[in-house]
Amino acid sequence: MDELNRLLEGNKRYMSGKLAEKDVGSAREASKNKQTPFATILTCSDSRVVPEFIFDANVGELFVIRNAGNIIDDIVLGTIEYGTEHLGTPLLVVLGHEKCGAVTAACSGGECPPNIAAIMSKIKPAKAKGGGVEEVIDNNMKNVVDEIRDGSEIVRHLEKEGRLKIVEIKYFFENGRVEVK
Ligand SMILES: [Zn+2]
Repeated sequence: MDELNRLLEGNKRYMSGKLAEKDVGSAREASKNKQTPFATILTCSDSRVVPEFIFDANVGELFVIRNAGNIIDDIVLGTIEYGTEHLGTPLLVVLGHEKCGAVTAACSGGECPPNIAAIMSKIKPAKAKGGGVEEVIDNNMKNVVDEIRDGSEIVRHLEKEGRLKIVEIKYFFENGRVEVK
């Protein structure tokens, strides 16, 4: 099964409410000296968007980066490079979600404290493309993928060599489903 299918199969289990039986102790033991995750995932800090639950994954399987709005800066890019190049995950997922608070705030505009403003400014280009909140969320995911490619020679190289696949996935609260964009 390829890595994307592995995530989607896990999501089916999550949606059904019947997660795979996991021996977390064994997984911890097996990975104590080395991690071998199969996917790098950049997602939002939203407490309801938890990749290990959404994709029914165990300890050591997902290399996860989270921040409000699943946005890019140098540290995120470096972390993505660590996951994809150093750890060699063949899959990189940008996992956005419906009703994202960070994107909603960016769409509303208004004054905010400087550190929050830094987040808003990252979402601005998606907002500038117009549309409602959900369209801005989708455009933000697209922009993030573009920023990864523009900003990382390592990622471009891995993709060119066929060693890395990048996908955008959107998560929905209602039934826990995900949609591959
Ligand atoms: Zn969010």
